[in-house]
Amino acid sequence: MHDIVIVGAGPAGSSFAKFSAEQGFSVAVIDTLRLEQVWSKPCGNGLVERQLSRTPLSRPRGDELYGVAKDVHVYSPDYSFRVKFREKTYLINRTEFGRRVLEEAMAAGATFLEGTGFRKVIFRDGRVAGIVSSRGELRARLVVDASGSQARVKSQLPAEWPVAEKPPHVALCMRGIFRLDSVEEPETLKVYTDQSLAPRSYWWNFPHGGDMVNVGVGVMPGDYARLKELYRGIVARLPVRGAVQEGGAYLPVSRPPLSLVGPGVLVLGDAAPTVNPLTGEGMGPSILAAHLAAEQLPGFDSWSHEELWAMNEYLRREGADAAAADVLKRLVWSVDAGELQGMMSLFRRKLNLLKLPFHSKLRRALLAARALRNHYRNYPTSPGLDGWSAELRRLEASITF
Ligand SMILES: Cc1cc2nc3c(=O)[nH]c(=O)nc-3n(C[C@H](O)[C@H](O)[C@H](O)COP(=O)(O)OP(=O)(O)OC[C@H]3O[C@@H](n4cnc5c(N)ncnc54)[C@H](O)[C@@H]3O)c2cc1C
Repeated sequence: MHDIVIVGAGPAGSSFAKFSAEQGFSVAVIDTLRLEQVWSKPCGNGLVERQLSRTPLSRPRGDELYGVAKDVHVYSPDYSFRVKFREKTYLINRTEFGRRVLEEAMAAGATFLEGTGFRKVIFRDGRVAGIVSSRGELRARLVVDASGSQARVKSQLPAEWPVAEKPPHVALCMRGIFRLDSVEEPETLKVYTDQSLAPRSYWWNFPHGGDMVNVGVGVMPGDYARLKELYRGIVARLPVRGAVQEGGAYLPVSRPPLSLVGPGVLVLGDAAPTVNPLTGEGMGPSILAAHLAAEQLPGFDSWSHEELWAMNEYLRREGADAAAADVLKRLVWSVDAGELQGMMSLFRRKLNLLKLPFHSKLRRALLAARALRNHYRNYPTSPGLDGWSAELRRLEASITF
């Protein structure tokens, strides 16, 4: 019997393993992958300092880093101008950094069962009491689903548990690491809102160290069948000398879930999802959610559902901003390229921002975003979500553009 069994050793699972093992809890983490493969999922590899700095994880260093970017430049749909943001971002070698996080968890006493698959949830007395893995049963006071977008544990939970809610919006992404003839602005993350190549989305070009870049795009279900063609169109724009690695993966881009917690269970990372639905950033939020959840552990005595509920603190603190970001995502989805170009031009110069209150769609979006943010800030402090989730549904239904 463990205190905690974690399914998945990606950013969410390995961080939670480290944060909880360092507090003296007995922790087992399983993954179908081996130690040297963890965190190997295709990704843009941009880990934002803003979130990392709020956790006890030490910064990526040495071989764990391809570089550090200072800015994000978001290009308008017709590429005629760009809006610049300051955002320090580590471009990480995911497998190197991930292995270090997991090794730190193991050094603190966590057991890592590599090459071990999750099979089934064990229920007892109306709560999750453990799992069946490919190596047998693992009993625990808390089971953590950190299995990524497939949410293996969560998908076996009773549908009436709020934590079992399925994210309605899941993007399918493709990304490649390419060698280029030359890499311009190696300290800048470039994001392109060209709606012909990235419908309802964006494509990105991130530095990857030396002459390499990380280029990719994500699309929503109606465009899944066109993903390869769109991706090829993007790659054709670049002075590519050769592909180093290419791959695809799902990315949930929905508003924050109704709950991260059920009886005997916690859901973190893409399984929740804790991804920012507008930008697609998922690593920083996974690590931060793991940290905020682990901070609650010392307060547990019976590990009842009521006690575990404190781990929903993430929704109150961070989910509020993600819920607001979801409204802006829906705004972007509701406009065509010309309208998006016009809206982005308001953010081009500080002076233009004065026009913002007179743009009816943007004004409505900002008011709706504020209402959603406030609603998540008032997230219930104990189980019982009926009133809160009914109001959430009402607020969401009232958003029209
Ligand atoms: C193309 C792409 C680009 C992205 N770019 C960025 C970016 O630049 N910056 C950013 O912050 N985020 C980015 N994201 C999002 C980010 O990659 C994810 O949010 C993050 O990896 C989520 O971490 P996780 O631990 O929840 O899940 P994962 O990283 O998916 O890890 C889940 C783990 O669970 C294991 N697992 C799954 N099923 C089982 C099972 N049945 N049994 C045992 N183990 C299992 C898997 O092997 C895996 O190791 C991107 C995503 C995509 C798809």
